[in-house]
Amino acid sequence: MEGKILRGKDIAVKIEEELKKQVEAQKRKLGRALQLTTVVIAEDSASKIYLASQAKVAARLGIGFDFQKLPGDISQNNLDKKIQNLNQAGTVDGILIQMPLPMHLDPKRAINFLSPDKDVEGLHPQNLGKLFFLEPKIISPTVASVMAILEETKIDLQGKEVVIVGHSEIVGKPLSLLLLNKLATTTVCHIGTSRAGHLEMHLKRAEILIVAVGKPRFIKGSSLKKGVVVVDVGINRENGKLVGDVDFETAKKKASFITPVPGGVGALTPVMLMRNLLRLTQ
Ligand code: NAD
Repeated sequence: MEGKILRGKDIAVKIEEELKKQVEAQKRKLGRALQLTTVVIAEDSASKIYLASQAKVAARLGIGFDFQKLPGDISQNNLDKKIQNLNQAGTVDGILIQMPLPMHLDPKRAINFLSPDKDVEGLHPQNLGKLFFLEPKIISPTVASVMAILEETKIDLQGKEVVIVGHSEIVGKPLSLLLLNKLATTTVCHIGTSRAGHLEMHLKRAEILIVAVGKPRFIKGSSLKKGVVVVDVGINRENGKLVGDVDFETAKKKASFITPVPGGVGALTPVMLMRNLLRLTQ
């Protein structure tokens, strides 16, 4: 038996339908369209795809979207000023700083300059800090997408053996806190786990496995427990094709549910971003 494929696109359509009504209601209340501004400094192929999907979803929802391209050699001070101007702009509801930044800029400082009230990706320390105690209003769209996908399985997370591979600030760390808040038994694996030779042991007992490593087809089906739910956050380019961190073909033979790449987590992210924008205005 092969696992049921959890398509982010199908979940996105449902969430977007509901969101559209809420965005329209908020538009009537504010007397203007919601506005998202994305600041772009360095552009790579992944950020171009993300920008294009932001523009598409914003257009479908009637949200104003503009991206401001700044010179690649902008100084940190000038970037700080730019962010402060956007923080003060009355008609801008949400600001996204497209990552990665060029090497000479400090991304943490840029995020710190963002007003937490306009931090549409939930990356400001104040928004991240709220994760510690409760479910906050704004969480990273990627993390929100993983949670929406898990909800779709209707599995009660309480007491489940959840294994996250990857401990980044945008995925693994915030996700682990959210899952703890749901009373899942949450293990976070990372490069240290692999170096110690313990990754296989954790993979073997995972009932729910979330992978955000950034290595094409890194996790094979042979490492997985039968019936595991697999959520693959990875987006990698391999021979001109997008592939995840999980070897889909072998993993789907073991999984009860599995997300594809493309069309899984990534398909939901821009919708979750717009949901955050709405929440910032509420
Ligand atoms: P990152 O590069 O910041 O962190 C990688 C993580 O993987 C680290 O915790 C590291 O310790 C761990 N790791 C590396 N090698 C390992 C190994 N051999 N064994 C175990 N752990 C190992 O990653 P990130 O920014 O979270 O991105 C991860 C992947 O997710 C990338 O492919 C990225 O493109 C993708 N991503 C997708 C979305 C989306 O919306 N779908 C959003 C963000 C990131």
